[in-house]
Amino acid sequence: MRRLLGSTRGLFIACVAVSSLLAGLVTAFVWLPLAGHLLPPGHFLAPWVPMVLSILLAIPIASFVSRRSARPIQDMVEATKSISRGDYAVRVAEEGTGDIAELLHSFNRMTAELGSTELMRNDFINTFSHEFKTPIVSIRGFARRLRRGGLTEQQQNEYLDFIVEESQRLADLASSVLLLSKYESQKLVGEQTDYDLDEQIRTCVLRLESQWSAKDLVFELDLPRLPYRGNAEMMEHVWLNLLSNAVKFSREGGAVFLAACEEDGRISVTVRDEGVGIDPKDIGHIFDKFYQGDSSHAAEGSGLGLALVHRIVELSGGRITVESEKGRGTAFCVELPAAAGEG
Ligand code: ADP
Repeated sequence: MRRLLGSTRGLFIACVAVSSLLAGLVTAFVWLPLAGHLLPPGHFLAPWVPMVLSILLAIPIASFVSRRSARPIQDMVEATKSISRGDYAVRVAEEGTGDIAELLHSFNRMTAELGSTELMRNDFINTFSHEFKTPIVSIRGFARRLRRGGLTEQQQNEYLDFIVEESQRLADLASSVLLLSKYESQKLVGEQTDYDLDEQIRTCVLRLESQWSAKDLVFELDLPRLPYRGNAEMMEHVWLNLLSNAVKFSREGGAVFLAACEEDGRISVTVRDEGVGIDPKDIGHIFDKFYQGDSSHAAEGSGLGLALVHRIVELSGGRITVESEKGRGTAFCVELPAAAGEG
């Protein structure tokens, strides 16, 4: 910035110097020969008169030109001061051409990015505080009620169960937030190993058996052998999240389908359920942090699961898509590079 302002000062000096040189040339080659013909004989005009006049004229012109070209930079200096005070709404007028115009455009883009990051950060802190406060308030309520006494043994046990459940929810929430912030700051998937994805998915299905058998669900698996190179710990979060959502949002006695294939160097795994489906107004937000479309299951999750899945798939060089119909079911499709490279 200082260099740019310095170059504006340089422009001013250059304008004065060029104008003075031109004035000298005009005086020597135009004015003096012309004055010799126009003035009556015996009259003489000192050569410094037109020279001084030209220089006097050159100074305001140079000052105008340099000030005009410095204005966008000075606007930017002022805008930068506003940003440093935390005002991200500030913008500079995008005028001029060439490098300056591009600089102003990039500056506005950078400010807009900073503004949205700040908004997201505030939003995250607000939601996070709210999500944390709710279980703490209910734990405190139950603990106070227990301390007052006068409860039956059954009531005491119920209240203690609530406290255990809510503290578990807090612990899960804290681990999910920590994990998500860790993966968000990571640029690479980290340690990679060779293993079979189909085997990992089957193990995840078994780990959730208590949940799906409680709802009397059937699992239909169509999983060929899928040799894969990637971070096994991270991929496990993906399958556990997608499968537990499929179970959570399925109706009693429903079915969950798992299919996978490998084609053109890409592995694709689909987890499909015939559950409640996702409202079209929610579908664009389900990968957002803390977003919970279906409030009937809000207490069973934190809205961080799919944000985590999305980040892991992204880090693994893949992509995740979703298709859903309200009341008919949902299908998530994870595509991964068959031999996943870092990043
Ligand atoms: P949660 O902890 O609430 O499950 P997620 O991030 O895993 O959070 O999911 C975000 C939201 O996406 C859920 O609250 C739900 O509305 C929707 N969702 C995710 N998976 C499914 C599914 N299989 N069927 C219906 N809705 C789903």
